Amino acid sequence: MATDNYGLSEVIGPGVSGECLERKGLHINEDHFILEVVDPDTLQPVPPGEVGELVLTTLSKEAFPMVRYRTGDLTRILPGECPCGRTGRRMSRVLGRCDDMLIIRGVNVFPSQVETVLFEIEGTEPHYQIVVERKGAMDEATVLVEAAESIFFDQMRRQKEMVERIQKRLAQELGVTFEVKLVERKTLERFEGKARRVVDKRQLWSSPTAEPHA
Ligand SMILES: [Zn+2]
Repeated sequence: MATDNYGLSEVIGPGVSGECLERKGLHINEDHFILEVVDPDTLQPVPPGEVGELVLTTLSKEAFPMVRYRTGDLTRILPGECPCGRTGRRMSRVLGRCDDMLIIRGVNVFPSQVETVLFEIEGTEPHYQIVVERKGAMDEATVLVEAAESIFFDQMRRQKEMVERIQKRLAQELGVTFEVKLVERKTLERFEGKARRVVDKRQLWSSPTAEPHA
């Protein structure tokens, strides 16, 4: 059985935390590290259970100790105790990088969460793009999903069902309503072989030199 292990070379390499065979979150080696989870913008601690940036202080590292080192990784402290009986705190698997986090209508959204939902839905391809725009005071978020060719040969009804299914699952999992559009395979742009997951047009629009056309 494979278990997840978390660490980073700046701090120790593997060994900050790791899953037991229950695989219900990563047990933190709290005798060697002080772990805090903070809001990446305000740097204030988030309430237990909420997602934030992992900040580490080393207790046993010699010569090059780290004090409140910002990892850039997003995680959350898991509530309750692990079925294995260990009573220390556990963290979730790393959910992404702070740079990837989007705030849509006040809700934190990670591209990895969108990916997980799409992965469950038959007929979608592993290519998608999240486009966020601001219309008036509201954020509008659209997920473009590449769909299998067979979907486009089918009747409109099946495409519509698929869009509704994706929309419903995203709302359940992320708490945000997205517009969903199916696009044909290979229509989303790739950069150096890697897909560009997020197009956030909001920053551009807040600049006085780049006002949107009315
Ligand atoms: Zn355990």
